[in-house]
Amino acid sequence: MILPIFVYGTTVLRKKAVDITPDYPELKQLIQNMFDTMEKADGVGLAAPQVNHAIRLFVVNGAKFADDYVNEPELRNFRKVFINPKIVEFSGNDVSFSEGCLSIPGLYEDVIRKTEIEIEYLDENFVAQKEHLKGVCARIVMHEYDHLDGVLFVDRISPIKKRMIKGKLDAILNEKTHRNYKMRFASKKMSV
Ligand code: ZN
Repeated sequence: MILPIFVYGTTVLRKKAVDITPDYPELKQLIQNMFDTMEKADGVGLAAPQVNHAIRLFVVNGAKFADDYVNEPELRNFRKVFINPKIVEFSGNDVSFSEGCLSIPGLYEDVIRKTEIEIEYLDENFVAQKEHLKGVCARIVMHEYDHLDGVLFVDRISPIKKRMIKGKLDAILNEKTHRNYKMRFASKKMSV
């Protein structure tokens, strides 16, 4: 099932998400819905707060980027579920990369982040995993991980740049943005 994506201005995007246990209601269905929603919207990652669940869960699918980043073949099969993740180490260099977000439609800005991370998480079967990620895979995960702490990529750009994009952010707040996927705006009544 395709879920509406909550966009910039909605309170759920600013909440600190909480860890979950395997008995979280209809978790399997939620994960499937998140994959369906992400893929329909042509995204490479989707965090649970973006579909109005303030829980520490996100899904990724890097396949869309595989043709653009041929030296990172691991993107092709980078389709995963991350539950209760914890980035235990950031390493490598600081690099700039143009990011977008399904919750901030139509906006792309360079964000500086580290190139490598070490992450511990539970997979969809609640089996503990530990991975070292680099390049675009690490970038996708760091962006989604931020969502679990209520952080958006526009929080990580300079104040000057943020002023420059204020008009675009206001357009989202005023519901003057259109996409080919379902969105839920701040002014609409939210069901929690
Ligand atoms: Zn995002």
